[in-house]
Amino acid sequence: MGAFGDTVELIRDKDQRIDLLILTHVDNDHIEGLTTWFENDPQATDLIGTVLFNSGQLIFEYFRKPDILENHIILTPSYVTDTGIVEGVTFEKTIGDAGVWTRKIIKAEQVIKFYGVELKILSPDESGLEALLTKWEKKMPESVTSRPTDYKQSLLSHIENDLFVKDRSPHNGSSIAFVLTFKGKNMLFLADAHPEKIIAGLNYFGFTEKNKLECEFVKMAHHGSKFNTNVELLRLIESPVYVISSDGSGSALPHKQCLARLLNEKKTLSLYFNYDHLAEEIFSKADYVSFPNLEILPIDHEFIIHE
Ligand SMILES: [Zn+2]
Repeated sequence: MGAFGDTVELIRDKDQRIDLLILTHVDNDHIEGLTTWFENDPQATDLIGTVLFNSGQLIFEYFRKPDILENHIILTPSYVTDTGIVEGVTFEKTIGDAGVWTRKIIKAEQVIKFYGVELKILSPDESGLEALLTKWEKKMPESVTSRPTDYKQSLLSHIENDLFVKDRSPHNGSSIAFVLTFKGKNMLFLADAHPEKIIAGLNYFGFTEKNKLECEFVKMAHHGSKFNTNVELLRLIESPVYVISSDGSGSALPHKQCLARLLNEKKTLSLYFNYDHLAEEIFSKADYVSFPNLEILPIDHEFIIHE
């Protein structure tokens, strides 16, 4: 089952659970690990406490529009149960039947409290959800959409030529992005959300350039894409660590241009890559000379939040 399956087994071996599972949006790179797990493990939902997920059906219901069945996430289980092969199962039905899904629209300006953790929802807003009232396009597999990276250009040259163009993907625009607060410490999870929506969400909760959101780390939006982080957003955030979630295959993410924008704004920071070969591919010696206060955290770095 790959890395996701290993993680599940680790959780199971330790007799732990996934208390809160947030499915941010429906793109394959965010859902495939889960669907593969569900298709191979009839006990999957036993390991889950609560799921937050804006499913297709839920969004159409919310806007009182007729549902489009093609948008449902079909599961093709590999296992056979007492009653035979399972057919026509959807992800939505599985989490619904198991009683783990809140089945409530998650949207900007909501505050969700959970086991002493507070989530301030920044995205999606109403229009981000409304943009999904169509038959959804399936993303091409990454191998087909493979693009060259922008890693050869130096950080300084990226900064000189920087121009922000915003992400227009409706799927990304429906991403659940949030500030997670635990014991007074904030962590910012941006999924693949659109920067103008994140900014509006932060502003709503009182965060401005003069009253920045101080956080322990930021999970950068859209795998560090240059289309999802602008200077305006960076000026609302103060954080020592920025997390890039990407294996670098196919999608050419993160964009070095995005990291250059970040470094130009913050100067001193640590980057954490969940695939640690990426830092070597992206940064040259000259880049480290230009930004001596750039630190790459080791892959086994533990995010320990002190009180
Ligand atoms: Zn993504």
